[in-house]
Amino acid sequence: MLTTNTQAPDKTLKAIKKFAEQYAKRTDTYFCVDPSVTAAVIEGLTRHKKELGAPLCPCRYYEDKEAEVKTAFWNCPCVPMRERQDCHCMLFLPQDNELAGEQQEIDMGVITEMRDNNCVTA
Ligand code: SF4
Repeated sequence: MLTTNTQAPDKTLKAIKKFAEQYAKRTDTYFCVDPSVTAAVIEGLTRHKKELGAPLCPCRYYEDKEAEVKTAFWNCPCVPMRERQDCHCMLFLPQDNELAGEQQEIDMGVITEMRDNNCVTA
């Protein structure tokens, strides 16, 4: 039977994953103790990068996504993250955050599994 929702990790997803891992290391922040949170945010950033050309924060509502991309305020890493390590998506957590895990890397399989199980939109 043909599987329609199992896709190999693509170039954009790989690039966003690499960015998140490198940025966490650079800022001494950690991924959430629940890897599905990290996976969902990376997948959301990837989707925006593909749709809009920029990794617009996936955890907010926007009236006009194209306009938001142009302001760059919520392009990841957003201004609150850059200025005060405030990531409301819980992608980058300071070590003393109670939801911070010990990882600054995430397995690609966790991301693609979450995506394939949850993402049914085109
Ligand atoms: S809150 Fe900022 S740093 Fe965190 S995922 Fe969204 S854009 Fe990126």
